[in-house]
Amino acid sequence: MKLQEIGEFGLIDLIKPGTIVDESSIIAGIGDDAAVILPRPHQLQLMTADMLVEGIHFDLNTTSAWQLGYKAMAVNFSDIAAMGGTPRQAVVSIAIPPTTTVEFVVDVYAGMKEICREYKVNIVGGDTVACLQGIVLNVTVLGEAAPAAIVQRSGAQIGDIVAVTGTLGNSSCGLDLLQDNHWVNLEFAGPLVAAHLTPRPQVELGNLLAVSGANSMDDISDGLASEVHEIAGASQVGMEIFADNIPLSPELITASEYFHKPALEYALYGGEDYQLLVTMNPANYTALMHQYEGDRCPITAIGRVVSQQAGITLVDSAGQNRSLVAHGYNHFR
Ligand code: ADP
Ligand code: MG
Repeated sequence: MKLQEIGEFGLIDLIKPGTIVDESSIIAGIGDDAAVILPRPHQLQLMTADMLVEGIHFDLNTTSAWQLGYKAMAVNFSDIAAMGGTPRQAVVSIAIPPTTTVEFVVDVYAGMKEICREYKVNIVGGDTVACLQGIVLNVTVLGEAAPAAIVQRSGAQIGDIVAVTGTLGNSSCGLDLLQDNHWVNLEFAGPLVAAHLTPRPQVELGNLLAVSGANSMDDISDGLASEVHEIAGASQVGMEIFADNIPLSPELITASEYFHKPALEYALYGGEDYQLLVTMNPANYTALMHQYEGDRCPITAIGRVVSQQAGITLVDSAGQNRSLVAHGYNHFR
């Protein structure tokens, strides 16, 4: 069935079921002129938006509608996580050509509702408009954090440990695999493709890092090199990153051999990992690491904060220091 057969209001009726997963903060969700929400007491409110444009951010040949919805939400949760917050409410605006099928839009929302259920976030409203061609999806998320938990990019201090969550480079390697028609036959491909299509924002770890004394934090959306520059620039410091310490998954290492491309290239310059980059003073970092004794730690130290004059450098296995240039994705360039 095409959208033009059921119209805007028919579509909203289809979308609405299952959008509220945390009743406690909702007075009115979808269906009125504006949503009415009840913030938790003494919490600061965080707001963020991310817009995805067909042909620029996603390709429907390699992404399903469900995955598109999931990821559109995930990238916003990741921005809230990077501030030390927890996502709570979302509004979704969508521009769609009238010839799009109803099933497509319902699937986009099924992906969004899935991740919203997992992270207990309500979809409380949005806007639906027609466009001439290409789908545009904008998600705005409202999050919360205790005032003491907020972590900005600008707080890195000389002497801080630089650390990251998870492993890096999986998502961009997953994209290379999706563009390679043989990926379904490659046993290492699954987790890499999943990292690209359905990233898992690090909300819990972001909260943990925030309460453990993180001085600065950013989510890794444009590749590690680019994010290192973001924090260093905002904090007016330099950074020294040790190439050998950057955490890489075994699947990435296998896939990078398959593509004859260094795994480190994916980790440094590939985007969309949605892991967290954090700096903390060494005492706080050590205290945090003690919580993981015996367990596999999802946080890895990769470098240290140095003076701005020392610059932003990558130290290789041989101990050679070279300037680390940011060349992640940048619109309009
Ligand atoms: P209004 O004309 O008052 O702006 P709309 O007719 O655009 O209201 O929307 C009706 C209700 O449906 C509102 O509560 C709005 O937030 C919600 N809504 C509209 N489009 C979407 C969407 N794409 N996703 C979620 N909620 C939506
Ligand atoms: Mg409207």
